Amino acid sequence: MKPSHIEHIGIAVNDLDESIKYYQNVLGLECYNIEEVKDQKVKTAFFKVGDTKIELLESTDPEGPIGKFVEKKGEGIHHIAFAVNNIEEKLRHAEENGVRLIDSVPRKGAEGLNIAFLHPKSTFGVLTELCEDNNK
Ligand code: ZN
Repeated sequence: MKPSHIEHIGIAVNDLDESIKYYQNVLGLECYNIEEVKDQKVKTAFFKVGDTKIELLESTDPEGPIGKFVEKKGEGIHHIAFAVNNIEEKLRHAEENGVRLIDSVPRKGAEGLNIAFLHPKSTFGVLTELCEDNNK
């Protein structure tokens, strides 16, 4: 599959504004985008660290995926996203290798990227996102 880099690390938080303060004031990173992803029922905040981003995720609905995650596991790392080309082909490759797909077809994520998730039960406990940037 050979991803080019880690596109972002998704971190579930209870309070976006409070957590942004930590990333800005303590780590000295700059929040360059805040965006609501309605179909995922989240508000997101982005920071760049080299080629990798930190994506903070606050749930806007307790029934949404992040709401359920925080309820069950508390705040913390939610997923890791790898940057890939030809995301459809990479998904087929994963499937052929016995990986369970959450998204069998890519969809639009934050920042207009094409994204698809692999099921953590097939990826040794890590919710894994594949990410293709067609804007580049
Ligand atoms: Zn993500």
